[in-house]
Amino acid sequence: MAGTVYSHSRLSAFEQCPRKFLFRYIEKRPVDTESIEAFVGKRVHEILERLYRFVDSGRIPSLPKVLKRFSIEWERHYDAERIRITRGDSDPDDYRHNGERCLSNYYRRRYPFDHEETLGLETRVTFSLDDAGRYRIQGFVDRVCMAPDGALEIHDFKTGRYVPKQEALDQDRQLAFYQLGLEPRYPETREVRLVWHYLLRNQVRVSTRSREQLQTLRRDTITLIDEIESASEYPPKPGSLCPWCEFRDLCPEGAAIKPRELPARGRGWPRERGAPPAPEPRSLPGREEPAAPALPALRGQLPLI
Ligand code: SF4
Repeated sequence: MAGTVYSHSRLSAFEQCPRKFLFRYIEKRPVDTESIEAFVGKRVHEILERLYRFVDSGRIPSLPKVLKRFSIEWERHYDAERIRITRGDSDPDDYRHNGERCLSNYYRRRYPFDHEETLGLETRVTFSLDDAGRYRIQGFVDRVCMAPDGALEIHDFKTGRYVPKQEALDQDRQLAFYQLGLEPRYPETREVRLVWHYLLRNQVRVSTRSREQLQTLRRDTITLIDEIESASEYPPKPGSLCPWCEFRDLCPEGAAIKPRELPARGRGWPRERGAPPAPEPRSLPGREEPAAPALPALRGQLPLI
C-alpha cells in the first residue's frame, strides 16, 4: 500500500472494522447501493454549496427557493432500487423531511450569510504527516472562511441527529486534519477554529487545537498507518453499525446482527469512533430545537437557486 493517500474515512474504516476496510479499500468490492443517510447528506451538502455560490455572487435565494431546489435534486437522484433504508419503520419521506429541516435550520440561523468571508467550498486539502512525504492525507472541507476577528474557520456540515459531546469534538481527527492541510495556505493566520454545524439539531460546536495536539495527531496517525500497512489479517468487528454496512451481505458475522437489535428510535445511537451516526428519521413531538432567530425581511427573494 506504499503511496496510498489516506483520508479520515479510510482510517476510520480500519479502526471500526478491518473486514470492512478489506472489502472497501483492498478488494474494492463493488457496491451498487447507497444508504439513505449518505444520500440525504449528499443532497444537503450540494444545496449548501450552491447556496454559498449564489451568496458569493451577491444574490441570496429565498428559503422556499432553496427548499425547492432540494426537492428537485432529491427527485432527480432518488432511486428506490439503489437507496438502502435500514430502519424498517421509516420511509423516504421521513428522511426528505429531515433534509428540509437541516436546510431550514441553517438558513434561518445564518441568513443573510455574511457572518464570515467564504474562502473556499468543498476545498480539497492534501498534506504529508512527515517531512519525507511518506504519510499522505487528503480530504475535502465543506467550507473554509475568514471570521471578522481574522480567525480562519473550518466549517463542517452534519446531517445526523447525534451531536457528540464537546470532549469528543476536542479530540476529533477529521477537522484537525483539515487544519494541518490548510494552515500553510494561510500563513498569516494566528487562530484556527474548527466549527461543526449539526443541522438537524440546529446546534453549532467549536473547537481549537494546540500545536502540541497537532503534533500528537501527526504521530498517532503515522502509527495507525504503519499498523494498517503491516496488517495481514482483517478480522470482522461486528457492532451496532453492521446494519448500515454496505458489505453486510458478504459478512456472516455482521449479518448475524439482526435489525431487531437496533436501538429504539431516539435512543442509543451507535457512537463508535469515526462512524457516521445514523440520523433519526422523524421529528419527535415535543423535542423541537430552540426556535431559530426570526427571519429578517427576505430582501433577496430572487428566483435564483
Ligand atoms: S457487516 Fe459489520 S463486521 Fe461485517 S464488514 Fe461490515 S462492519 Fe464489519
